[in-house]
Amino acid sequence: MFNRDQKEEIITPLPKKIGIPRAFSYYNNFPFYYGFFKSLGFEVVISDKTTNKIINDGSAVLVSDSCFPLKVYVGHLLNLLEKGVSTIFVPSLQSISFKVNNCSKIRGLPEIIRNVVDIPFNMIEPTLDKTEEIGFYDFWEETLKPFGITDKKVVKRATKAGWEMYDNFLAMTHSGIDYKLALSTALEGRKINNTSRKEGYWLSVAIMAHGYNLFDERISMKLIEKLDKMKVKVYTSLQVSPTEAKSAIEGLGEIQYWANEFELTGTAAHFMKRENRVDGIIALSAFGCGPDSLMVDEIAYHAKRVQMPLLHLTIDEHTGEAGFMTRLDAFVDMLWRKKRMNIVKNINNLDLVQPQESEKETKQTKFSQSITKF
Ligand code: SF4
Repeated sequence: MFNRDQKEEIITPLPKKIGIPRAFSYYNNFPFYYGFFKSLGFEVVISDKTTNKIINDGSAVLVSDSCFPLKVYVGHLLNLLEKGVSTIFVPSLQSISFKVNNCSKIRGLPEIIRNVVDIPFNMIEPTLDKTEEIGFYDFWEETLKPFGITDKKVVKRATKAGWEMYDNFLAMTHSGIDYKLALSTALEGRKINNTSRKEGYWLSVAIMAHGYNLFDERISMKLIEKLDKMKVKVYTSLQVSPTEAKSAIEGLGEIQYWANEFELTGTAAHFMKRENRVDGIIALSAFGCGPDSLMVDEIAYHAKRVQMPLLHLTIDEHTGEAGFMTRLDAFVDMLWRKKRMNIVKNINNLDLVQPQESEKETKQTKFSQSITKF
């Protein structure tokens, strides 16, 4: 007899439209996501730029001691639902290589969303967990299953399209093109060379921060733009390759534990090296973030050892621009005074040498004069 329980479940594939919250992995991976989904004919919708409403909406449904970026993420997801997007990509990025983990919020993102958002929608929730041997292709195959795409060759072709866009983006940011321009150019399927060599910077700093904190202009309060206006050259993780970040971490005698470690410890360590040394380091982290506090402490220890000034800015939904600016101003002012003192010290050292040189010169002049006279 026909057994109803054994009947294969027929699931209607979802339409090819996907929402991506402009938060968390968006800031690192969006060129890949876009290239991947577009190559398969998807309509890709992203949430609006972060606003106070988005922050407040996210904060309203989470417990108050959740980290700030998580509140922002939830706000963006609600924004997509408000726009009528009913299928949203919420990946669970557990570990990016063997025993290199993300924090519990990023690992458990689908579970958190399920528990705090009570509006029904289709959650696309693939898992990447290289420690448990759930790899990159497994992740994308799981992503596409609800849309009825199961052919492995098709999945591989789409990942190739994703990599092409992502590699263009990285090549541009690595050459010094700013984040926004590199992103928009990569999404158009183009690549440009960095021809603008802006000069006239007096100081240089490296910022250690997650992409989702630094490149979200509302969260970072346009930190990069502010520093640029103060004639401070800014370096970020986008100018450091994974190989450079890894070797810099090892150079400090540390190991990579957190998935985002290259953006923080790796970047700071790279720019603390003698050959890449900047005038100072700015750590930008979210209030209540466990991994960041460990990484910032670690870098603060090494920065002190090599006498590199470090400013730690913490952000949350209540951070005011005035206080943020005062601390930044004071730090840049201190860097400038330090630099000036070093310049003066070097000039003084030259002065100590000069009398001997000029003495020599005088002796030589007198000697040659006496020869002429003779
Ligand atoms: S790493 Fe920190 S800021 Fe990022 S999600 Fe985890 S706790 Fe939040």
